[in-house]
Amino acid sequence: MPTGACERRASLKSWVGVAACPVMAAFSRTNVAVAPAFPKGRRRPAEPGAGVHSPGRSIPGVTAQPTIGVLAVQGDVREHVRALEAAGAAAVTVRRPAELEAVDGLVIPGGESTTMDKLVRLFDLHAPLKARLEAGLPAYGSCAGMIMLADRILDGHRDQQTLGGLDITVRRNAFGRQVDSFEEDLHIRELGPQPVRAVFIRAPWVEQVGEAVDVLARVETGPAAGRIVAVRQGPLLATSFHPEVTGDHRFHQLFVEIVKEGA
Ligand code: GLN
Repeated sequence: MPTGACERRASLKSWVGVAACPVMAAFSRTNVAVAPAFPKGRRRPAEPGAGVHSPGRSIPGVTAQPTIGVLAVQGDVREHVRALEAAGAAAVTVRRPAELEAVDGLVIPGGESTTMDKLVRLFDLHAPLKARLEAGLPAYGSCAGMIMLADRILDGHRDQQTLGGLDITVRRNAFGRQVDSFEEDLHIRELGPQPVRAVFIRAPWVEQVGEAVDVLARVETGPAAGRIVAVRQGPLLATSFHPEVTGDHRFHQLFVEIVKEGA
């Protein structure tokens, strides 16, 4: 895991289709790259319930180690798989309806929401995803994933659809060109006194929230101060930023707890 801000942004920006550091430009991956099911050299976990096609789901409230899927059509899938494993979940990738059936919760990664939207429909996942979200599947979306979970979108591409579930209005690429990428410490009561290092890359912000939505974090400094960047609505969690790349797994731990509760 790169630790420097430039390296971190460069590795991130490779999956949003831009280069953060000139030297990294050559390494940019395509937007439609499909990540391998598991990182190279890693074996699929062998624990019961960890398999992608395990029959039936674990029982909410009883699950010691929930199986959490990462939507793997595009974006920083591997980073979320690692963060979920570090947070105690069995992480699997999801790109087929049958794989979706087998998970207790779902992460929608950062990446590019317009591409993700197209691929989700191409992979026949749009309707099954919507159906499971409507049925109460716990889900966590980071950045592009937040957009996918939002009921309403501003500055989306023409014809861009979201899966919805969260009663929020998001604005895509809200921070503008000059500040399309930055990092900031955020104080998030639900995660304890230590601030969270939030990495924003061409991030959305939440422009409006419905009554059932809890605001977990707002930008604290600069011209965007006060803008909402983390929310929770029951079993749905979303951040404008990318905890999956910082090595701080508290957001993923919170999500694992939400899944365990079967919230
Ligand atoms: N700007 C991207 C989008 O609209 C999100 C970027 C990200 O996930 N880092 O989907």
